[in-house]
Amino acid sequence: MKKPYKLVSREFKPDNTCISVGDAVFGDGSLPVIAGPCAVESENQVLSIAASVKDAGAKLFRGGAFKPRSSPYSFQGLGEQGLKLLKKVKDETGLPVVTEAMDVENFDLIEQYADIIQIGSRNMQNFSLLRRAGKSEKPVILKRGMSAFLEEWLLTAEYIMKEGNERVILCERGVRNFIRHSRNTLDLTVVSAVKQESHLPIILDPSHAAGVRYQVVPLAFACAASEADGIMIEVHNDPDQALSDGPQSLFPEQFKAAMKKIEAIHAIVRN
Ligand code: PEP
Ligand code: MN
Repeated sequence: MKKPYKLVSREFKPDNTCISVGDAVFGDGSLPVIAGPCAVESENQVLSIAASVKDAGAKLFRGGAFKPRSSPYSFQGLGEQGLKLLKKVKDETGLPVVTEAMDVENFDLIEQYADIIQIGSRNMQNFSLLRRAGKSEKPVILKRGMSAFLEEWLLTAEYIMKEGNERVILCERGVRNFIRHSRNTLDLTVVSAVKQESHLPIILDPSHAAGVRYQVVPLAFACAASEADGIMIEVHNDPDQALSDGPQSLFPEQFKAAMKKIEAIHAIVRN
C-alpha cells in the first residue's frame, strides 16, 4: 500500500462507509443536517432551538457542554449539567445529539450522553484523545485542524480507526487564511479530495468557516451543491445574547428558510 494511511484509504476499502445515527445516514448520498447552538446554555435555550431545528428538518442536534475557547475568560460550557440538558433534548425531540469531547479526562462521561462525539479543530492532533475515541462504541466527528494538510487529517482519522472504531465522520470547518472578511475559508475543494483518498464520509460546517451570519446561508447552499455527506450549522434562538459564537448563529426562521433551499439544491445535484 502506497499511502501513509491504511484503514482510512479508499485503496484499502473501495466502497463508501455509511454511518447511521437515528434517522440520518452519513455516506449514502443523502445530506443530513446537524443543527443547534455552539454551546448548551440553558434548558429553555436548547429545548427551544431543538424544537425549531427539528421542525425545519434537521436530523441531529448539536451543542457543546465542554467548550474549547480561545480565551480562558470566555464561557467554558456547562459541563455535566450541559450533557444532562442534551439528554433532555433527546428525550423530548428524539433527535440524536452531537457534543464535543475535549480531553481524555471527561471522555467516559461524554460518551454516556453523546450519540456522536465531536473532536474539535484544536484537538485534531491530540493523539491520546484520538486513541480514546478509537476505543469508543460511538461514532466520531473529526474536525479538520485549522491549517491541517489533508494527509495530516486523514492520519488522525487513522489513529481512531486503528483502535477499532470504524465510524469516523470527517468535518471541514474552514482553514485559516490571510484574509479578514471571514473567520476562516471553507475549503470546498477538500470534499472531492477526501472522496478520492478515503471511503469515510465528510460533512461541512459553514458556520465556523464564515464566522459571520450573512455568509453562512450562501455557503450552506454551496455545501449542498458539493459532494458532502452532511452539513453542520449553528442556530440560536437569541444570537445577540449567545454565550458563544452568536455572530455566526442563524436565527431559527433563517435556518428554516435555508433548509428548504438546501434540500432543493441537493435534490438537483444528486439526481
Ligand atoms: C464547535 O463546533 O463549536 C467548534 C468549537 O468548532 P471548531 O473545533 O471547528 O472550531
Ligand atoms: Mn461554535
